[in-house]
Amino acid sequence: MDLGCLGAVDGGNKVGMESSETLRLRAVLFDRDGTLVVDVPYNGDPALVRPMPGARDVLDAVRRRGLATGVVSNQSGLGRGLLDRSQVDSVNARVEQLLGPFDVWEICPHTAADVCSCRKPAPGLVHNACRKLGLEASEVALIGDIGSDVEAAEAAGAVGVLVPTPVTRPEEVAGSRLVAHDLAAAVRLLLEMA
Ligand SMILES: [Mg+2]
Ligand SMILES: [Zn+2]
Repeated sequence: MDLGCLGAVDGGNKVGMESSETLRLRAVLFDRDGTLVVDVPYNGDPALVRPMPGARDVLDAVRRRGLATGVVSNQSGLGRGLLDRSQVDSVNARVEQLLGPFDVWEICPHTAADVCSCRKPAPGLVHNACRKLGLEASEVALIGDIGSDVEAAEAAGAVGVLVPTPVTRPEEVAGSRLVAHDLAAAVRLLLEMA
């Protein structure tokens, strides 16, 4: 299946908008692991941070367009006691060193058992990011590599775009209205809707 440009061809209807409506895009949020950087499970070591292909260029292009950027990340390693906050902070600092500054970071430290309101697919991280950016959720998109990212975006009232990796499950791809084959294509898709 060609994942290149699903959804853009019919004027944004795949995100449930009227064709006359356009996306007023003000910010792009990104999942961290498997989206901006190669997923290293429960990574607490900044030396292991590796950007996904093209991530820096895509982010620079988004920033040049005057759009805010943010990261929304589940870090259940915190809640499991596998990571401490200083390790997560140092990994995030390394992400910014490699990919440039983000306007907002939102981290969920909980495990699924905590049943919090922020762990994706819950919308809390997206809501918090919007509040800090002073934006409506409808002005924000979230790009991620699994279904939970897209679900969190939609639950918050934002637009979700899936960029699958080899570990993304086929049903998550099938269940996502907007799918792109890489970060650059995801941002192009959003800008075409705007
Ligand atoms: Mg991910
Ligand atoms: Zn949480």
